[in-house]
Amino acid sequence: MRIIDTVYIDGAFVAPHGKELFDLFNPATGTVIGRVRLGDVEDTQRAIAAARRAFPAMSRTSKAERIAMLKRLHEAVMARLDAITQATIEEYGAPVARASWGAKYAAQSFLDAASTLKDISLLRRIGAAEVVMEPVGVVGLITPWNANAGFICNKLATAIAAGCTAVIKPSEMSAIQTQVVCEALHAAGLPPGVFNIVNGRGDIVGAELSAHPDIAKISFTGSTAVGKAIMRAGAETMKRVTLELGGKSPTLVLEDADLAIAVPLAIAAGFVNSGQACLAGTRILVPQTRLQEVEALARKAVDATRAGDPRDPATAIGPMVSQRQWERVQRYIRIGLEEGARLLIGGEGKPEGLEAGYFVKPTVFSGVHNGMTIAREEIFGPVLSIITYRDEEEAVAIANDTVYGLQACVISADVARARAVASRLNAGRVLINGLHHEPLAPFGGFKQSGIGREHGAFGLEGYLEPKTVLGALVAA
Ligand code: NAD
Repeated sequence: MRIIDTVYIDGAFVAPHGKELFDLFNPATGTVIGRVRLGDVEDTQRAIAAARRAFPAMSRTSKAERIAMLKRLHEAVMARLDAITQATIEEYGAPVARASWGAKYAAQSFLDAASTLKDISLLRRIGAAEVVMEPVGVVGLITPWNANAGFICNKLATAIAAGCTAVIKPSEMSAIQTQVVCEALHAAGLPPGVFNIVNGRGDIVGAELSAHPDIAKISFTGSTAVGKAIMRAGAETMKRVTLELGGKSPTLVLEDADLAIAVPLAIAAGFVNSGQACLAGTRILVPQTRLQEVEALARKAVDATRAGDPRDPATAIGPMVSQRQWERVQRYIRIGLEEGARLLIGGEGKPEGLEAGYFVKPTVFSGVHNGMTIAREEIFGPVLSIITYRDEEEAVAIANDTVYGLQACVISADVARARAVASRLNAGRVLINGLHHEPLAPFGGFKQSGIGREHGAFGLEGYLEPKTVLGALVAA
């Protein structure tokens, strides 16, 4: 049983002022594995004050100094990859391959930020003006549970590259991972106050960060509903926001696609991170004429997708993060049935032999139309919908008929054709024929999937304020 009774403020692990205790579970077994004492408003204010004290010196650091800090952070996280991976498996239930990828992604984000900073110009000349890119100030970084270490590290890396100082509020459900990551970051020996981490509830610590006048910007990853609340709370002090929110991503299988490749790919895109992913391809759009073939292949692909013990390398789908999340997914499966969708495979309840944890049967519905609740709302579990279309025009219309716009995937035998379809999709990222990843390319959503972008130069610019200086060049 791991007891976490510290918050990280001003370069030190200190006892929180908050008194509330929060149990931490192993979702694969349903047992309590730890307890965290949560920070409160006073802890948040102490952390903000520390970050504010550290800001003037941090904002004046050179590119070279920031790059050196990012390299130290990278090395410190690399030294603890195994511990982060283990904590992610134990506390979140991520299958081992995913957990290990997530830990490496967390470490790599410091190098990516360093290379972005190296290449970006912080002093630009536009006509007679000098434009200086200044750090925006103290930033609040609020993250969800579904890739905890990665989100903490990626946001912090970008903040440091910009010369900002930060207060991080991770999901309270991931406190063990947070502690392991925080110990790693602490070992990098950055000046006190540059980053601070306060575990706590969203409506307490998160809300205080979102409203506090000394926070210049919030970078938030989480649900669209909370993203809206943060934007409202920040409006009073005109906070800058980067919001990475929910999705209901379509996978468009075009009529010329080789279904033997396309259908397993579409299923994998939907089941990524056990379905607990903002970018999961939860709506599979297929030509009506090929539905039978698609259904047979989908059944086969899901049959081959093993749900089970996340420590087993053969496992593709782990448990849901919590009992509450399990119940939410079950509710959506029931709604799908009530609204007349046809269950192709999976369904309510737990897979045989996995009754103790929060496991969901990998589920695919067919006969879904885009107006059904399961096609409109983010389920955040391994529950996919097959939707048919008559022609490409209709496929594009269905794909775009959603309040979200995070990601889309197009599968076709003809890349030029896929690209033409991609150009008509309202999504921040479109994948063609595979689950590709380019760490320096911008990531973020159209419409209610968010505002702003993360990663690379686009991400970094979200932490910078351009200051135009006129007159200086004339004199020179
Ligand atoms: P959530 O919105 O419930 O919580 C996210 C974080 O916000 C947590 O740290 C939470 O404590 C905090 N929070 C809650 N209420 C708050 C408030 N009023 N003010 C400030 N902070 C508050 O999301 P979740 O359930 O932890 O994560 C799942 C969601 O995250 C899904 O909707 C998913 O799509 C989204 N997500 C988006 C991306 C992306 O990059 N677009 C990536 C991963 C997850």
